[in-house]
Amino acid sequence: MSKNHISKRIDKFDKNYNLENKKYNCFTNNLSDYARSYLSEKSGLLNDKLIAIKDNINIKGYPTTCCSKLLENHQSVYDATVITRIKNQNGSIVAKTNMDEFAMGSSTEYSCFGSVSNPHNTSKVSGGSSGGSAAAVASNLVDISLGSDTGGSVRQPAAFCGVYGLKPTYGSISRYGLTAFASSLDQIGIFANNTIDIHNMFKTISGHDVNDSNTINQKITFDFNQKNIENIKIGYSEKLFNQLNDGLKEKYFELIDFLQSQNLTVKNIDIDMLDVAIPTYYIIATAEASSNLSRFDGIRYGDRKNSDKIDEIYSMTRSELFGSEVKRRIMLGNYVLSSGYYDHYYNKALKVRRLITDHLLAHLSTFNALLLPTAPSTAFSKNEKKNNPLEMYLSDIYTIPISLAGLPSMNIPIGKVEGLPVGMQICCNYLEENIIFLLSHYLEKHYK
Ligand code: GLN
Repeated sequence: MSKNHISKRIDKFDKNYNLENKKYNCFTNNLSDYARSYLSEKSGLLNDKLIAIKDNINIKGYPTTCCSKLLENHQSVYDATVITRIKNQNGSIVAKTNMDEFAMGSSTEYSCFGSVSNPHNTSKVSGGSSGGSAAAVASNLVDISLGSDTGGSVRQPAAFCGVYGLKPTYGSISRYGLTAFASSLDQIGIFANNTIDIHNMFKTISGHDVNDSNTINQKITFDFNQKNIENIKIGYSEKLFNQLNDGLKEKYFELIDFLQSQNLTVKNIDIDMLDVAIPTYYIIATAEASSNLSRFDGIRYGDRKNSDKIDEIYSMTRSELFGSEVKRRIMLGNYVLSSGYYDHYYNKALKVRRLITDHLLAHLSTFNALLLPTAPSTAFSKNEKKNNPLEMYLSDIYTIPISLAGLPSMNIPIGKVEGLPVGMQICCNYLEENIIFLLSHYLEKHYK
């Protein structure tokens, strides 16, 4: 596509920005001028693609607010590696997206800018924490968006908004320039309306980065078009589907029937330990968050509440500018790490994490892919769970075990119940995103 064509698309995006954002509240910042500033004739994998970036990823010279009052006026001083790589492939970054404060939440209702509306029904939440990125793609305002997924924040909003959402292998995409939440879990993920766009973005931003020593220095295969689908062995767990309400259950069993009719090996297996995954995650993630968020003290970053006593600057800044969910997590994290409780909670959680990982890996030694529900329900109503954190935490019951194991997994839309999208997760072994793309592409072409 020509420079002229994308330039017109950026202009159209810019012109409609205010009107569209009033409908969904999915963006925090219009970056059309930024996209125009580096338009070029060169060609790349992301030519002609409009792209939005979650507001916890740095773009030099622009705000990275993490949708927190504390960072409302903070400007990034460097580009995240993913931003440099997107620009190298000629992608047009036109906006930053709304999210739960510091990526803690499942509905975007903890954003200081208010919640995102689900494009399929604006009285429902978009899911979270990357709800703005999911809604921006679902409403076709952009082609591809980036989010971050610590315990489900890409896959769950993708399911709620009816789009594809990949959380790749832990360590496959550089997190240099992503605001850290829980470092042993955080991963940048991708939203799009089709498998090819997800694949092209993954190819663009994945791979080793000298600025992030957590990135895996290993080749990822990208030849998913050529592989033979019949050789893929799929495991799923009837037990998990049976826990869901009738409408959802039906959709999952219909998909399994379809896969079986295609002569694929599809077997019912026992995927277990989901009940222990949520407490394990909320110990590990909050412990890491309490440490990561200690840098937001009013001195080094963001806004400050003034006092002539340094301790008061810290405490007033943090108590007045962090939202209640973030404060809850910092307190919980400090508690599980404190002496006397460390072994009882934190150390134990690390051991359970190992057991969950081993359990999933044992299945993946027999099967190439596991199919799981992405979320236990379709998008819930605004205000339904906002004041009930435990209910909110449960919406990640199927995504969290995979995050604890660091495995790649992608939400694919498989239909609708009462007008709201239903999503299925495809989980594979480390660095086998290729199999995810293969299956997803096949279903995109052949399923309904
Ligand atoms: N909803 C989960 C939480 O609040 C996951 C968030 C995420 O993946 N960033 O921790």
